[in-house]
Amino acid sequence: MRPLGIVPDEMCCGCAACANVCPQKCITLNSDSKGFIYPYVEMDKCIRCKRCESVCPVLNNRKCSSLKPLHVYAAKNPDEGIRMKSSSGGIFTMLAEKVIEKGGVVFGARFDENWNVVHDYTESLAGIGLFRGSKYVQSRIGDCFRKAKQFLDDDREVLFSGTPCQVAGLRQFLHRPYANLYCVEVVCHGVPSPLVFRHYISSLEKKHNGTVCRLKFRDKSNGWKAYEIVVEFDNGKIYRSRGRDNAFIKGFIGNLFLRQSCTKCVFKSFKSGADITLGDFWGSEKFGQEYNDDKGISLVCINSNNGLRFFDLIKSDVIGLIESSLVDAITYNLCLVESVKMHRKEHKFYRSYTGKEFDVIVSRLLHNSRFWMLLNEIIPYYYGIIIGKVKIMLCRR
Ligand SMILES: Cc1cc2nc3c(=O)[nH]c(=O)nc-3n(C[C@H](O)[C@H](O)[C@H](O)COP(=O)(O)OP(=O)(O)OC[C@H]3O[C@@H](n4cnc5c(N)ncnc54)[C@H](O)[C@@H]3O)c2cc1C
Repeated sequence: MRPLGIVPDEMCCGCAACANVCPQKCITLNSDSKGFIYPYVEMDKCIRCKRCESVCPVLNNRKCSSLKPLHVYAAKNPDEGIRMKSSSGGIFTMLAEKVIEKGGVVFGARFDENWNVVHDYTESLAGIGLFRGSKYVQSRIGDCFRKAKQFLDDDREVLFSGTPCQVAGLRQFLHRPYANLYCVEVVCHGVPSPLVFRHYISSLEKKHNGTVCRLKFRDKSNGWKAYEIVVEFDNGKIYRSRGRDNAFIKGFIGNLFLRQSCTKCVFKSFKSGADITLGDFWGSEKFGQEYNDDKGISLVCINSNNGLRFFDLIKSDVIGLIESSLVDAITYNLCLVESVKMHRKEHKFYRSYTGKEFDVIVSRLLHNSRFWMLLNEIIPYYYGIIIGKVKIMLCRR
């Protein structure tokens, strides 16, 4: 077994398109020391058909300038209960329900019984619940691309949701457009290490002397903006922590343990082939106090005619629909167009995080003065406005 090596490790996004397409089934994905999966090949079984190369979304990335969405909206799910359970405005659930109601299939990310994040599919309304809510860990695609193709070839409608690289991986794997496929990507800051997350879970279990039985990354009981991570244990204990104070979230947002390819993501600026992009509409203050109920507002970018038709299915049911602009979207979500930079102490983190208390090591490495914290918030904001305007100028040319 040797590394597949069709792209350098720092570019490989681990989408598993290569493993899904291999006719010999001789490509497997193995974790590296940081917990991220990379493809390995059994050379004695490989027939050198190069299909792995033809489906790699990084190798075959369209080298075009930024694309521009057809529409940018702020929107909310009218069902307040669902919206409270969703990370943003609950638009994913509305889209997923429509597909299921029409006899289709929905793919998304869920936790398995060991708190690994895995991609899976559902054919039922109840099954959508497992995909609801962000899991801030890289999910494993497994053989979902093969399964999605099977459903598409059987003329079933398919909604595939995931990160931009996963959507790009599916598109490249399929090699041709399908009218019955809707691809929905989430705005992606970058994906944290599954190994670090497992270690974080173990550290919580040790501290609380119990086994984790429920975990929510974005609990909105105290508001969408002041969201909390909530973890329940089998001994009845409950751990709650404000996102901005929680060690795992701080490490995620502080770029301490993201996948290397996220720092050079080639699928930003709507290049993944997603019909719709979903995120948080953070700049919603401008719509007034009444609009801003702090229960979650979605950023919805419609990127294709297929996305337009798909969104039309739910448009009349959505509440608080406001047409916005790409500049607004980028200003508050620079991640739409710019890759993050890995924290300079990433190596230090991996050297020390297993030996010390998780919270202690993260706080020590991310220790910042208030001045720098303020700069970290202000600079991306103004940078976002400038980048947004430049991108729009490029799109107009
Ligand atoms: C790793 C990650 C980073 C993100 N970074 C940002 C960001 O910087 N800015 C921003 O505005 N939004 C970001 N989001 C998206 C945001 O958190 C919401 O997921 C999105 O707005 C959809 O919200 P919703 O209320 O419509 O649906 P929800 O029900 O909250 O979201 C469910 C959707 O998220 C998908 N999903 C959940 N976890 C994963 C995962 N690990 N991998 C792939 N897909 C997953 C599900 O398949 C489903 O499509 C990120 C999401 C993830 C998973």
